Amino acid sequence: MSKEKETTKPTAIPEVDPTASVEEQIKQAELAAKLMELEIKRQELEAKGIEIQERKYHIQELKAKLADREISEKQVKEDREQQGRTIAQQEATDKYRYTVCTHKKGGLVSPRDQRVLSTGGNAAQYAVLKHQMINGDIWVRCLRCGKTWAPPVEKNFFFDAKGRQVAPVDGEFSKVKFEHAVEDYKRATMFETNNSMSTSVQCRFRIVDAETGKLIDATDLYREGISSTTLR
Ligand SMILES: [Zn+2]
Repeated sequence: MSKEKETTKPTAIPEVDPTASVEEQIKQAELAAKLMELEIKRQELEAKGIEIQERKYHIQELKAKLADREISEKQVKEDREQQGRTIAQQEATDKYRYTVCTHKKGGLVSPRDQRVLSTGGNAAQYAVLKHQMINGDIWVRCLRCGKTWAPPVEKNFFFDAKGRQVAPVDGEFSKVKFEHAVEDYKRATMFETNNSMSTSVQCRFRIVDAETGKLIDATDLYREGISSTTLR
């Protein structure tokens, strides 16, 4: 710290002169006792001063720690916001790529112009990969732009007043958008391609109905569980 602690000098306590008269010795002893008292007071004051200074340092330290924490919390918040923006940008970029892509094979690629690799070509055959999921659903992925078509799940077609996709409890189901997505998906499964379809081990998803005790189909549950996934 910048300011040095000011210390007062210890009081010199005179010795009683054994050769002096008794009265003189008493006076000297009284004086010594008074001086001793003063010295004790002085030391007490010094100790208090040190205590106060210590407390000040402690408070400064706490303040610095609080400031540090505030800064790091602010940093975390900013990082999170930045991440959110990056994800939103990525989504917007992906959406744009999906719309400009023909999802087809062919096209000319030159060292100078490789755009066709991400925007698709003009051949009759589609540059897509069809994959049969574990429950039998067919997913289609464009090898050029990465767009993935999967059976639409109703849960993902709820929108708020501003048209943003929200959880079912927070919005209304859009039948139009859902049916449009179903059509889009059906079209994608029929894309003509000579790429062979890959498959998974096939399973049926069923759960036991709590009321009847019978096995019921749980394909929708499976679809909902993986609806935010792509074949990337
Ligand atoms: Zn594509």
